[in-house]
Amino acid sequence: MRKLSIRDLDLHEKRVFMRVDFNVPISQGRIRDDMRILQTLETLRYGLERNAKLVLASHLGRPKGKPDPEQSLRPVAELLHDLLGRPVQFVEDCIGPVAGQAAAAMKPGDVLLLENVRFHKEEEANDEEFARQLASLSEGLYVNDAFGTAHRAHASVVGITKFVEQAASGLLMERELKFLGDALERPVRPFVAVLGGAKVSDKIEVVEHLMHIADSLLIGGAMAYTFLKAKGMPIGASRVEEDKLELAGHLLDEARKAKFRLLLPIDHAVAPSIDERAKMRVVDMGKTPLGWMGLDIGPKTAAFFSDEIARARTVVWNGPMGVFEVEPFSWGTIAIARALAAVTSTGVTSIVGGGDSMAALRKSGLADRITHVSTGGGASLEFLAGRKLPGVIALTDKVGR
Ligand code: AMP
Repeated sequence: MRKLSIRDLDLHEKRVFMRVDFNVPISQGRIRDDMRILQTLETLRYGLERNAKLVLASHLGRPKGKPDPEQSLRPVAELLHDLLGRPVQFVEDCIGPVAGQAAAAMKPGDVLLLENVRFHKEEEANDEEFARQLASLSEGLYVNDAFGTAHRAHASVVGITKFVEQAASGLLMERELKFLGDALERPVRPFVAVLGGAKVSDKIEVVEHLMHIADSLLIGGAMAYTFLKAKGMPIGASRVEEDKLELAGHLLDEARKAKFRLLLPIDHAVAPSIDERAKMRVVDMGKTPLGWMGLDIGPKTAAFFSDEIARARTVVWNGPMGVFEVEPFSWGTIAIARALAAVTSTGVTSIVGGGDSMAALRKSGLADRITHVSTGGGASLEFLAGRKLPGVIALTDKVGR
């Protein structure tokens, strides 16, 4: 079912409650990375061009349901002021009389930023009364542009939608749903998926779902070792999830029966410890010395995976190929980023999700060469696992065409 978009709303001089994702790293009152704020600006400007009154709400960090000055959104109000070129009023609570009075006094084109919604435990509990109070700050209009939080059934994401007349996606949310939705529902084939990162447990459902819809699945990162061990390969002291070995073995069996191309690394960069100065060696699969760990894919794997990517018409990537935060082990992840950038330049759709893959893309200066870099790590994974996101289900259905 298609959902209402902000473009379907009559925002003119109306007070609209916008759930945005301003969950940015802040230390000593300074914003260390403003990307999430920049990505939602288009939606904010869209509202302001229509003379709406914007009531902005977000969470920041995990304050455990009570106020914590370290996790205040106040620094974001200052940055927004500069970015939007107009005053942004900050309100010290997201409900109650201060918020109500500030909202009531707004004029067309005003922007109000509410304090962290997670300062109230009712937010994560999806409490009805709290949701109703948030909704009362709007004039029946709600816009959700926080894709990164759409997998959470929280009050400002789900509960609030019951108390407004229209709940619509913002422009960023719409773009996320379009790219991820199109890729998974009607991919141009071959459709190649690349998964990495540490934990198999986070990605089991993703592997299962992708086995049904992709043409091949390339697995790197630590999660590959759980699969390799399940196949009986010696993997030295590489990180393995012992309690997931059986499941990994089962997935490999399924892939074999379905003749599905589930591809694992054929060589590895190994070292005795995760350390910048550790001795590093490249070994073929099965040749990891005792006590050494696989910390990145090797050059043969990078070439093998890159060839597969070069033949794709749609590529989705989530999770690093190695311990990319430590310089000597970032090589494989960057090689995959390059392969994605190269294939994208031939008109292929590439989609990258997850904070680590995104960080690797930015580090290698390749982010601009990817079709779509998703802002939501957890949300994009749930999407790849074939789950419906509660924050999207809650939006108003679009009637008619
Ligand atoms: P995840 O949160 O599951 O996406 O995992 C991301 C983390 O996996 C990153 O911090 C990487 O350093 C880590 N990682 C990737 N490959 C390996 C590996 N071979 N050994 C240990 N950690 C890894």
